Amino acid sequence: MVIGTELMEKVLFKIAKLWIAGKTIDDALISAKEAYQFGRHAIINKLGEYHTSKKEINETMQEYQKIVKSFKKWNIRGAISVKPTQIGLSISQKEYYNNFEKIIHDASISHVFVWLDMESSEHTDDTIEIYNTFFSKYERLGIALQANLKRTENDLHDLLEIGAKIRLIKGAYRENARISFKTKKDVDYNYVKLMKILFKKGNEFAIATHDVKIIQKAQYLSKKYPKKFEFQFLKGLREELKPDLIKKKFVVSDYIPYGVNWLPYSIRRIKERKRNILLLGSSLIQSHRV
Ligand SMILES: Cc1cc2nc3c(=O)[nH]c(=O)nc-3n(C[C@H](O)[C@H](O)[C@H](O)COP(=O)(O)OP(=O)(O)OC[C@H]3O[C@@H](n4cnc5c(N)ncnc54)[C@H](O)[C@@H]3O)c2cc1C
Repeated sequence: MVIGTELMEKVLFKIAKLWIAGKTIDDALISAKEAYQFGRHAIINKLGEYHTSKKEINETMQEYQKIVKSFKKWNIRGAISVKPTQIGLSISQKEYYNNFEKIIHDASISHVFVWLDMESSEHTDDTIEIYNTFFSKYERLGIALQANLKRTENDLHDLLEIGAKIRLIKGAYRENARISFKTKKDVDYNYVKLMKILFKKGNEFAIATHDVKIIQKAQYLSKKYPKKFEFQFLKGLREELKPDLIKKKFVVSDYIPYGVNWLPYSIRRIKERKRNILLLGSSLIQSHRV
């Protein structure tokens, strides 16, 4: 069976729509509004990474600036989540710092929280450095840390020293065995270890995982260590858990990506679960049937 690129893209986009809001800012805001109506907060991310074109970077900047201004008008409890390489890190540190300052400045005027997504390990230092630089000035700023990296325990302790707001994730990038935990068992073990540190020493953090066992452990820890924290999920995942958590008075946020650069993000989501690969296979077969 030979599948044309156009058909492949059509099928992939249909599947991607499980996890992304659509291609435009309005799609993202509509999705955020829906989340809000279900009692959730929204974290909007414009898809795209490793930008080296100034035009692309400027467009990304303008869209984030537009989004932070739109939350109030749309009556949404929202945050944005920015990837360093989408606002200039792939060009220069200077470009990245200048652009980030513009975003965080506008966000702070609109009282919007900004998350720094964490990308692959070659960018960890730069991401932590920019966090340290701006957190002293802007308190509505959080940073994602990846449990699959061996360095993260040290990073977490350092960041907690300054009262940082952490989103704990497992990590979506393939890293080598020298610097990372490779098996699910090891990553999960480290996640729980770091989560315990967060409950004991942190405040205003996010437990961002779809792992039911870990979510249960977090609920248990929250009784022992009452802290301000939230559960974060990617849009479209674990829908069945969210109402129950909200009923129990936990804060739940949906991470809502949008944009035309939907392919790399969607491929990461497909690869995360065997069933998603099967879904892709069966969708391709169905779309090929007349
Ligand atoms: C709010 C949020 C923000 C994130 N930000 C970043 C970031 O900045 N940098 C980064 O590297 N990564 C980020 N991630 C992705 C994260 O690192 C993981 O790749 C992703 O969440 C899968 O890991 P898991 O914790 O869900 O656990 P896993 O062990 O992968 O999954 C646990 C269970 O959850 C379910 N599940 C997981 N993924 C899927 C899926 N795609 N489809 C259906 N079911 C699934 C399955 O039942 C699976 O058994 C973020 C994740 C979230 C929730």
